[in-house]
Amino acid sequence: MREYQNWINGQPVAPTTENYIERISPADGTILAKFPRSGYEDVNNAVAVAQKLHVSGQWSNLAASERAKVLNKFAELIEVNSEMLAKIEAEEVGKPIIYARGEILWAAELVKFAASLAWQIPGEAHTHLGENKFGLVTREARGVVGLIVPWNFPLVCLFQKLPYALAAGCPVVIKPSEFTSGTALEVVKLAKEAGLPDGLINIVCGKGSVIGDALTRHPDVKMISFTGSTGVGKTITRVAADDMTRVALELGGKAANIVFADADFDAALDGVLFGVMLNQGEECVAGTRLIIEESIADTFVEQLIDRAKKVVIGHPLDENTQIGPLIHEQHFTKVLEYIEIGKSEGAKLVLDGSKPEGNNLGDGFYVGPTIFTDVKETDRIFQEEIFGPVLTVTTFTTEAQAVALANNVEYGLGNGLWTKDVDKALNVSKKLQSGTVYVNTYLEGAAQLPFGGYKQSGYGRENGVDALLEYMEVKSTFIKLGARTPVLPNTI
Ligand code: NAD
Repeated sequence: MREYQNWINGQPVAPTTENYIERISPADGTILAKFPRSGYEDVNNAVAVAQKLHVSGQWSNLAASERAKVLNKFAELIEVNSEMLAKIEAEEVGKPIIYARGEILWAAELVKFAASLAWQIPGEAHTHLGENKFGLVTREARGVVGLIVPWNFPLVCLFQKLPYALAAGCPVVIKPSEFTSGTALEVVKLAKEAGLPDGLINIVCGKGSVIGDALTRHPDVKMISFTGSTGVGKTITRVAADDMTRVALELGGKAANIVFADADFDAALDGVLFGVMLNQGEECVAGTRLIIEESIADTFVEQLIDRAKKVVIGHPLDENTQIGPLIHEQHFTKVLEYIEIGKSEGAKLVLDGSKPEGNNLGDGFYVGPTIFTDVKETDRIFQEEIFGPVLTVTTFTTEAQAVALANNVEYGLGNGLWTKDVDKALNVSKKLQSGTVYVNTYLEGAAQLPFGGYKQSGYGRENGVDALLEYMEVKSTFIKLGARTPVLPNTI
């Protein structure tokens, strides 16, 4: 069992509450780790340290090239330690180790990209404002930022925020999920080793309703960057409004994968299956709604079922596993309830993953790929985020119908589409109301491409240049040179 403390001012610090949360393995019930169940005082201590560093300018006044150098070293250390981090991520989340490895390396890549952005923080000079008049547009680190992250991609969700905040010059206080705090608490040691100053990255573990709330209310926290459910995102926004604390929100999703009859059939089969089963479907951008052209629907679904039956369900540390257990019992029960809801709504359960077969599944919280056909757009399983490997199938006959079906949900994080017709691909992707559209692929990412939501999936962007700018205030400086003359005659 791994025993952790909070991380404040470059060292482990026991919580003032002297209380801890046990993380139980979702695969086999063993105790994996103990994380602090911290209190308000711990948040105050962490914010005070971060604020002191901000005021000192020790990090934000460092040449951006120097910040980049340390960040690159940090990325290297993450790569060197990737196997250790992947194992912890796999155990705590329940995600297959083969995917956990990719997640860690992706986090390292985001650090390198953010480091490259530090070199080119944009500013402007305006020299045509009138005689002897100049204008400067400059960007400054916002100040202390609270980063609140969920359990499904603990390190990637964190690293779509952390390196950009650091590149911008902001100290942070992190609130990891109470289920999966391990990798954040390991990686921060690497940050210290890389040369990031003490007090720049602080971590306070515990319950969201206590620690997340306290961070959001703290007057010295100038921004909260949150990834999690839409409900909690709204709560945070309301609390933050009292102090006009800036909020960036990465929230829930209900992505559609639209398959046209002219798609590469084989590639679409793989993409649709991967889109719904990656991370056991515990994925904000999971392609959980297959919207398929009627003429190919029966054959496609038949072959999809065949492939889905071959997906290997098992212990997250087993190299062959493609689907691990869901995060915890409560969530497991919720996903099973949705399977019952689907049946009661009249959808046809053509693949039932509620009692999966696999090696040594024991009492783990396993759910295998599950497919419903004949799903109506008013059905709850079509509209609500299930966060498990449950796919709904709905058919269309016209392009307009496909777009309307895809857009007819409250979320707008991602969507996918499959066609060989470039005109159709561009036309449809333009009409889809989501921050990301995948064309003839699914769940690929590139650090240069911003990630974020439309509608109830939130606002603000992670990755791309936009991510860096989220953490910076913009200042306009108007300069008048030469003899001082009144701005308005007779007023000064
Ligand atoms: P959650 O909203 O329950 O919790 C997210 C984080 O917020 C956790 O650290 C939690 O402790 C904290 N929290 C809870 N209550 C809080 C409060 N009142 N104030 C401040 N913080 C609080 O989400 P979850 O169950 O951990 O994760 C699953 C959700 O996250 C899904 O809805 C999923 O779609 C979403 N998600 C979105 C993205 C994205 O990029 N858009 C990525 C991953 C997950």
